[in-house]
Amino acid sequence: MVKPEPPDQPRGRGIFCNRTLNLRSVRAIGYDMDYTLVDYRVAAFEQMVYAQARERLASEGWPVDGLEFDPRMVARGLVIDTERGNLVKANRFGFVKRAMHGTRMLEHAEQRDAYAQTLVDLNDPRWVFLNTLFSLSEGCLFAQAVDLLDRGALPRPFEYASLYRHVRARVDAQHLEGHLKAEIAAAPERYVVQDPEAALALLDQKAAGKKLLLITNSEWSFTSKMMAHAYDRHLPDGMTWRQLFDLVIVAARKPVFFTERGPFFEVVDEAGLLRPLMGPLRPGGLYLGGCASQVERDLGISGDEILYVGDHMFGDVHVSKRLLSWRTALVLRELDAEMAALESFRETELRLMAMMREKEGLEARLSQTRLALQRLHTGYGPAPTADAATLEARVHDLRGQLVALDAEIAPLAKAGTELVNARWGLLTRAGNDKSHLTRQIERYADIYTSRVSNFLHATPFAYFRSPRGSLPHDPAGPGMEAQP
Ligand code: IMP
Ligand code: MG
Repeated sequence: MVKPEPPDQPRGRGIFCNRTLNLRSVRAIGYDMDYTLVDYRVAAFEQMVYAQARERLASEGWPVDGLEFDPRMVARGLVIDTERGNLVKANRFGFVKRAMHGTRMLEHAEQRDAYAQTLVDLNDPRWVFLNTLFSLSEGCLFAQAVDLLDRGALPRPFEYASLYRHVRARVDAQHLEGHLKAEIAAAPERYVVQDPEAALALLDQKAAGKKLLLITNSEWSFTSKMMAHAYDRHLPDGMTWRQLFDLVIVAARKPVFFTERGPFFEVVDEAGLLRPLMGPLRPGGLYLGGCASQVERDLGISGDEILYVGDHMFGDVHVSKRLLSWRTALVLRELDAEMAALESFRETELRLMAMMREKEGLEARLSQTRLALQRLHTGYGPAPTADAATLEARVHDLRGQLVALDAEIAPLAKAGTELVNARWGLLTRAGNDKSHLTRQIERYADIYTSRVSNFLHATPFAYFRSPRGSLPHDPAGPGMEAQP
């Protein structure tokens, strides 16, 4: 029997699988809100956080007036080196592949001097991983602050690490004080990206018998405004977003929500009045704080029957997987653009691969010829197939061919490392290897996708199977299966 193909979907709207996950055996799906259920215009949101933090620094006497937020200066998955005042991109092993001091990209030699002996280790507080799109304003402001510090323009001395903490605290304060959220809530249409298909995807999951949970770090007043703005208009008449969820938990304090046993409070009215929770969580309830272990207990659902969907590499995905063995999905909004760029680069990529194979062939012949010469000069080994002059001419010729080929390869290879973002390249790659972010995703996210509405096309009955991993010693060799 011919298996029907799933409806045509652009690759960038797919759901990608690291570890096999059968949605049919998932009984509850927990969702993060910000940048998961609710997608923001990053440049607008981060511009506002940045501008408010900059204002605060200006009031402390910092000469920041001419500085502007540049959303392309940093990217999710980069790592701040608080010791050296750098931003770095590392590969899956922690080797630094690109680095920027302040806002200046380091030359190759500078980068080698700084990092030849140093691996990025996220367990060491020296390194700060940019976990979400909320990290962009902080990364940009820190890079610019390093420039100011180096120029001696700050009102007092700092070490790079204390400079980072200072900037971080100013950005943090914007999220915690009401001003930022009040501005966004007053004009949500400027900040929120509407995605009608997300509402339908959740309706499908609910009707398929999944318990839906909303677990967000945002506080109640912001959550209710954002969810109403993003969902109510896309739901059937008379239905509101609240009816989608079996539990709503605000101000959850993830990752602590997953690691400790904090108490739950009931939110008893729209204004956010709180009452300590006595007894178990109730269906349809609205709560604040709390902890994951009580959610599991009161729902009677064990870790691997819960899928948690979030955008924060550490706070949503890493911790829930490592401590509670929840099934995990990472929302990586940038994947859409990344896959489109890869698609448009595909022909060049194939040409590059063909040239690399040619290069390997030439290198192998060069090595063999040099070895024949070495044996001839030293006088050992099997009888040579040609005299020294012929072999030397061959070496010369092969070297010439390699130089010419390298000149063709270099611009194409460079273009490949500058896709989407000229400074940092693709989020998921570092050079021709996987990036540190990709390694985190592999370890902690069972599946990953660009947005929640991609579940619509997958359906609540999908069976995601992990691909057979390729290894360097596979018969075709890694990447060779892509040959035309
Ligand atoms: P969630 O993604 O739905 O869990 O919510 C993220 C919440 O964390 C939002 O309310 C953000 O404003 C807030 N947030 C993001 N970055 C920071 C930060 O650096 N400090 C404090 N709060 C933050
Ligand atoms: Mg989030």
